[in-house]
Amino acid sequence: MKTVVTIADLREALAPARDRGDSVGLVPTMGAFHDGHGSLFRAAREECDTVVVSLFVNPAQFEKDVDLDAYPGDLEADMAFAAEAGVDLLFTPSAAELYPPGFQTWVEVEELGRRLEGEHRPGHFRGVATVCLKLLNLVQPTRAYFGQKDAQQVAVLRRMIDDLELELPLRVLPTVRDLDGLAFSSRNARLTPADRRLALALPRALETRDLEAARAELAGLDVDYVELVDLDPPVLAAAVRVGSTRLIDNVVLEKEKP
Ligand code: AMP
Repeated sequence: MKTVVTIADLREALAPARDRGDSVGLVPTMGAFHDGHGSLFRAAREECDTVVVSLFVNPAQFEKDVDLDAYPGDLEADMAFAAEAGVDLLFTPSAAELYPPGFQTWVEVEELGRRLEGEHRPGHFRGVATVCLKLLNLVQPTRAYFGQKDAQQVAVLRRMIDDLELELPLRVLPTVRDLDGLAFSSRNARLTPADRRLALALPRALETRDLEAARAELAGLDVDYVELVDLDPPVLAAAVRVGSTRLIDNVVLEKEKP
């Protein structure tokens, strides 16, 4: 696996794949890899000639610096994890590389980007859509890989792809859960054992696939929202705060497509 930090090195490293006419899979991430990321890497490895993973903790999608600063990360461990999963190219740009002085162009998916996560994290999806469009333009993948864990993110990106005529297929992989039912998330590293026990109410609530039952399960927690959401596919989605950690999760309400 090759690791590149600059846009110039990324382009150079991708040139042979382009010359060969390789299919290229892109998996955008923020690092602190876990089995959820692993499932995306493996799917891309199976389906594409060249697998590119971006690792960028995007300041533009964090509303508060404390949240950004507390985001977990361990580059050495992530490099080993990605190499083991068969990733060919890991792109780890700095914020200055992607947002150089003078940067002033943003992508705003208006209606979808303001609901749910967007309501509780103003500007979040503007940051997500903008950085994803930049990464798609840089890598020009054959397909891009995302997790159903962030169902609204998928919906926002699909809207952007349609609205801006990108003609890019998205592959959306099912949420991967730990043995106790909690969806893998980089933020789980910040949960104390007591927090984690409380957090288990989240998957328990969603598993009911019933709004009222889910509300009852979450009664003791600090809930940002729990809602039936008419995405494709429809989901029961929730966001809760446990201690200083904010967790989101959802379950698909109809059978997941293969
Ligand atoms: P992140 O590094 O958290 O931005 O996530 C990178 C990609 O991995 C996103 O497309 C996420 O939806 C996906 N992802 C994160 N957690 C999981 C999980 N538990 N199961 C499946 N996909 C996930």
